[in-house]
Amino acid sequence: ELKGNIRVFCRVRPPANDEDPRADKMGGGKNMDQPLLKIDAVGEMAGRRMEVAPPGGAKAFDFNFDRVFGQDCGQGEVFEEISHLVQSALDGYKVCIFTYGQTGSGKTYTMLGGDACGESGEPEDQGEDLNLDDNRGLIPRSIEQIFKARDAAAKAAEENRGVTPPSLAISATMIEIYNEDIKDLLVSQKHSAETKYDVKHHADGRTTVTGLKTVEVANAGEVAKLMKKAQAVRSTAKTNMNEHSSRSHMVFTLHLDGVDSTGQPVHGALNLVDLAGSERLSRTGAEGARLKEAQCINKSLSALGDVVLALANRDAHVPFRNSKLTYLLQNSLGGDSKTLMFVNVSPAADSSQETLCSLRFAAKVNSCSQGQQTAGGAKK
Ligand code: ADP
Ligand code: MG
Repeated sequence: ELKGNIRVFCRVRPPANDEDPRADKMGGGKNMDQPLLKIDAVGEMAGRRMEVAPPGGAKAFDFNFDRVFGQDCGQGEVFEEISHLVQSALDGYKVCIFTYGQTGSGKTYTMLGGDACGESGEPEDQGEDLNLDDNRGLIPRSIEQIFKARDAAAKAAEENRGVTPPSLAISATMIEIYNEDIKDLLVSQKHSAETKYDVKHHADGRTTVTGLKTVEVANAGEVAKLMKKAQAVRSTAKTNMNEHSSRSHMVFTLHLDGVDSTGQPVHGALNLVDLAGSERLSRTGAEGARLKEAQCINKSLSALGDVVLALANRDAHVPFRNSKLTYLLQNSLGGDSKTLMFVNVSPAADSSQETLCSLRFAAKVNSCSQGQQTAGGAKK
């Protein structure tokens, strides 16, 4: 395989109500009369190449990714592009999907979905069922796919006597990494604060965390309930939930342990990671505790970048131990695991410097995974 196991997708969110809706038409370039963000619609690079022209800037910058999703791409279309990774996890691979980007760029929306399952306020009561809203994000859709596949396999085995029914245990963990500390989102704040969490890598490729609550789940509705609980724990941590969540990484993991048709044990894992906001320190003007948070975030995001680059370059040494996040995900990032990074960007003119920073980070990862340094260069 030419490209290794790292893919990078970019997703541009639609403008919010108070933002100029014309980012794809104007606002950028020296005279602010060029598109701020332009995604190739035709040609060889359609849906894969984009151009950013910061307002007042003399230069435009172009970037290539495995996919670029424009503001009109819905959650279903995005999920279609990742559903093969969910299947890989079912087949026993370790899969990691990240959302990277500044706060407000659409990371949580991509992972969880719109307001019903997002972070703004109480999730709606959905009873036993997952939210069937079109807005639902990668996490609820992945869960659905996994349970559907499991049920289909069981049914097929039942109809086909002589075939041993597959065994698959599905369990979930959900944590937050805040200032390099692990917090368990499936137990009370108090319990989590009193527990010491240690990451353990096992010889069979599994990773566990001592003291962490692992919940075996029987159907998608049970996972939905867990997510709701986790959201509630997360929200009590700080009065301003959105602010808090933007400073921590959230790692949702489905552990898929079973036996395949040949009797071999399989240990797949699907890690869905909503990263802390990537915005730079200068813009947030941090002091004291905020400064420490920002430094932890910068350090762990750059550690993640370093690990992904080292893996893409097939370096002998991969610096997994440089952050809690990369150490936790070590077995899901190296070897024959599969990694996808979403870089989420905002279409707002006043975010264009942050957008460029995010795209440069992602382009570095992407160009390395292609074994060449092409992306992110300045144009005339
Ligand atoms: P982040 O998690 O990166 O801070 P959010 O996911 O909370 O950002 O997104 C910020 C706002 O934009 C939210 O109100 C969210 O619902 C909305 N949003 C983000 N992406 C999309 C999208 N693709 N379509 C519609 N609304 C979106
Ligand atoms: Mg968020």
